[in-house]
Amino acid sequence: MQTGDGLLVRLNPVAGGLSAKSLIGLGESALRHGNGIMEVTARGSLQIRGLTAESARLLAAEVDALGIAVRSGVPVETGPLAGIDPQDIADPRPLAERIRTAIEEAELTARLGPKVSVVVDGGGQLSLDAVTADVRLKAVRCGEDVRWGVLVAGDARSAKPLATVDADAARDIAVAALRMVAEKGRDAHTRDLSERQLASLASWHSVTSVLPDISPSRGEIIPSARLSPIFGLARGEPAQELPISPLEGEMSGRTERGAQEREPAGSPIGTFKLSNNQALGIALPYGSMPAQNLIDLATQALNLGATEIRLAPGRALLFLGLSPTTCASLRASAAALGFVNSSADPRTRIAACPGTPACASGRIATRAMAETIATESPDLLDTSLTLHISGCAKGCAHPGAAMLTLVGDENGAGLVVDGTAKALPAAYRPGYDAARGVAGIAAAIHDARHQGETAAACLTRLGAAGIAELYRRN
Ligand code: SF4
Repeated sequence: MQTGDGLLVRLNPVAGGLSAKSLIGLGESALRHGNGIMEVTARGSLQIRGLTAESARLLAAEVDALGIAVRSGVPVETGPLAGIDPQDIADPRPLAERIRTAIEEAELTARLGPKVSVVVDGGGQLSLDAVTADVRLKAVRCGEDVRWGVLVAGDARSAKPLATVDADAARDIAVAALRMVAEKGRDAHTRDLSERQLASLASWHSVTSVLPDISPSRGEIIPSARLSPIFGLARGEPAQELPISPLEGEMSGRTERGAQEREPAGSPIGTFKLSNNQALGIALPYGSMPAQNLIDLATQALNLGATEIRLAPGRALLFLGLSPTTCASLRASAAALGFVNSSADPRTRIAACPGTPACASGRIATRAMAETIATESPDLLDTSLTLHISGCAKGCAHPGAAMLTLVGDENGAGLVVDGTAKALPAAYRPGYDAARGVAGIAAAIHDARHQGETAAACLTRLGAAGIAELYRRN
């Protein structure tokens, strides 16, 4: 697709994973043909930017030569630990495969829009709760048996629960829902289905009437993966919620559908215990990294014996096949290369689009500003607060409202309090100097905060006019 800095290519490997050698090869292709920046999106797709029509063709040939099969057809997504997570209630892959086959047999792909998707979540350590989908199936325990909660239109919090059924019925309902969507046209989604259609899907299978539903709000069955893996279930620490939702817009200047503000059930950053070894999850700051850094990290992973690298929702990469020792070593390398290796990293609280110079529409150097603020004002960035830095009013990185938004326009870097990048800024500073204004806000929070008060609560107390004044005058 066309973006401010040329064509952008989005890749979803069929298997969900790549060998370290393949990722190195892809990085080298990105260096040769793109602008040298690689991205992992909120939904866990790999993006290469800055291509021309000709270089995109060359890249495609090199992807083929690397033997990377990329996904086509309706996305039926399973989690990045699917099939290897000992905490999965059920392996989601067989059901996902049956749904893919049924979609093909029903010849639905061409009749559905490109943004229609299905999620099949095995209920393990890394849930897909934060990923929106037209149809979502989630494994739940019903006594000795496994059932699948079937929900439509949304993420785990917003989707409408229809039924809790066995795998056959789950597949049938999923495909029936997609047929109904296809009948409405290529722009349609399950959110467009009528109450009557939803009722008919919910009564598809008689078993639905005798099993409890899995509405998160009415949760008679609690999926285990509502706990956050950031702190590792194995570590027995409490769940945490991240302020920057993986559902926020992509870093590309374009968004994959499903971008909205939601707190995820879990983060892919951290260490995950598998049956015989460990997986390490690291994130790309703001979803983006120079290709050379990815090549260097993949090379290190190769040397340490990582067996596979999987893309994960939340702009992350999961390195599989590691021992505790090699995991620690790779984690240190990731930090040295500038990756995010801890959920406490203040960069996880900042959503920043590419801005200048990467995007032609950008008016401020968003990423450089984000780095300065993360370094100089980490106190501001506690888990209560989202800072959105947007190169222009389009707000690609965070379409919803944020507590603080810096937005570039012809007047410099405007500050919006509790609004979106499209709102009228309450104060301005020159773009090069915006971090100093934010430091003024951080200093005021430091001084004014009550014991136990979050940054967001403190800012609310200070009021929008007071915050604007702090930004302006520091
Ligand atoms: S918000 Fe503006 S500057 Fe940032 S990526 Fe989108 S179009 Fe470009």
